[in-house]
Amino acid sequence: MFRQVRTLGVMGGTFDPIHYGHLVTAEAVRAEYGLDQVLFVPTGQPAHKPAGGYTEAKHRYMMTILATLTNPHFEVSRVDIERPGTTYTIDTLHDLSTLYGPDTQLYFITGADAILEILAWKNPEELLRLCTFVAATRPGYDLSRLEQQLGDLYRRHKDRIKVVEVPAMAISSTDIRQRVRLGRPIRYLVPETVAYYIYKNGLYGATQMIVDGNLQLQGDPPC
Ligand code: NAP
Repeated sequence: MFRQVRTLGVMGGTFDPIHYGHLVTAEAVRAEYGLDQVLFVPTGQPAHKPAGGYTEAKHRYMMTILATLTNPHFEVSRVDIERPGTTYTIDTLHDLSTLYGPDTQLYFITGADAILEILAWKNPEELLRLCTFVAATRPGYDLSRLEQQLGDLYRRHKDRIKVVEVPAMAISSTDIRQRVRLGRPIRYLVPETVAYYIYKNGLYGATQMIVDGNLQLQGDPPC
């Protein structure tokens, strides 16, 4: 099965929670580069976040499965969740190169700031040999930051560092977590199944509200 995929988008993220911004980004990049598939890879222990500063991997993984279910080009991988220790993109790319083989071209897609952090880490040349990086930015992101911070590396590898501006990335996981905590609606920001998953499992301080035996989402008018 892996061998049939020639161009693979690797959508790396903590996905705490996954939202429509992530889904629109993945689909936009898939269309732009004609990718055969986009593999969502939820992080295990994020490199730059304190232990306990994020939701358990099993919940983030389940929400990613629910959100991607209806797109035939989207799949979810557990490679980062199952690898012990801190998640580093170099390990993600090595694992996926081994799984898919040398004929599959990898496109690592994530937020522009995360890409800056990844490429500022050790051995960026090795990372750029393994994949093309696609930096997703929110509208208004100052692109000169990428050029300035990566300097010579950016100039030498321009063809391997792409940027896509995605208006829907104005949606953010931080804002969604805060909305849930404050009892504000998250409808239309995340797929409905993800919203139900959050409420059913009490994530982000969500409190369940059962009306006539049905789980009610915060902000929903009572039936
Ligand atoms: P983050 O710091 O939580 O996110 C940085 C920004 O990028 C946020 O605005 C975030 O928005 C956005 N973002 C995150 N994932 C995205 C995606 N797939 N597409 C579009 N925007 C995205 O970063 P993170 O989610 O923990 O990590 C992102 C990826 O980079 C992961 O695969 C992680 O393992 C990798 N990473 C690797 C290293 C390393 O190897 N040294 C260091 C840092 C990150 P939301 O909050 O709304 O998602």
